Amino acid sequence: MFEPRRIKHCRVCGQLVEYRIPADDNRERAVCPACGEIHYENPINVVGTVPVWGEQVLLCRRNIEPRYGLWTLPAGFLELGETVAAGAQRETDEEAGAHFEMQDLFTIYNVVRAGQVHFFYRARLHDTEFNPGPETIEARLFREDEVPWEQVAFRTVRETLRRYFEDRRQGSFSLHVGDIG
Ligand SMILES: [Zn+2]
Repeated sequence: MFEPRRIKHCRVCGQLVEYRIPADDNRERAVCPACGEIHYENPINVVGTVPVWGEQVLLCRRNIEPRYGLWTLPAGFLELGETVAAGAQRETDEEAGAHFEMQDLFTIYNVVRAGQVHFFYRARLHDTEFNPGPETIEARLFREDEVPWEQVAFRTVRETLRRYFEDRRQGSFSLHVGDIG
């Protein structure tokens, strides 16, 4: 999920592609030597939520690689035809089966090395009944002092959780934007 992509075959004709700078361009692209198709690659959007119940946040234990068995906020790839908020809502539904309402956008992290941008919204849980999907081993609530920080799957999730608890202590939430190396 968090590896940079590398195109091997042309999506049009199946030929092996070559990485080179096309005419009138300024960076390497996967170019098909047979049909001339240029495959542009752009950062992927990862969208998720920080679902909250009182003092607790909802984390999901991953049933998939990478980072199998580690804990994450519900999140996944934005799909075509979705807004960022709708994608975050869908991922939360799919991974946790939670009942909740979306709140404000909370963090945006550039993960340039992985070619990704991660967006997390705050969300308010309506109850504590979860029905995790196949990508999740278990979904459960954690107070700040219970969060298994060493077993959090991704740095953007760790940073988002850290910011969340900080803002809550201060009594107001704002949008945080950062870069993860
Ligand atoms: Zn081709």
